[in-house]
Amino acid sequence: MDTPVTTCIRCGENMEEGFIVDFADNDNPVPSRWVPGVPEKLTMGGAAWSNKKCHGVRAYRCTGCGALEFFADAEPWAKPDKH
Ligand SMILES: [Zn+2]
Repeated sequence: MDTPVTTCIRCGENMEEGFIVDFADNDNPVPSRWVPGVPEKLTMGGAAWSNKKCHGVRAYRCTGCGALEFFADAEPWAKPDKH
């Protein structure tokens, strides 16, 4: 996938690609994912969404003002979480 943004819409500075880290899996850092809809239920283990397709999330940070832009990958993850 091509880089969706290269310059900040607010200040015009360069955008740096990254991702948001999720520590929900036993403190093992994994990239956050986007899932459609709303959480089916909330438990001690977090939101249940086992039957939903999840997409990797790219986060772009402006090197000038720090603004963040988020984009979900077009293709779902090949191996969804086991939750
Ligand atoms: Zn900016």
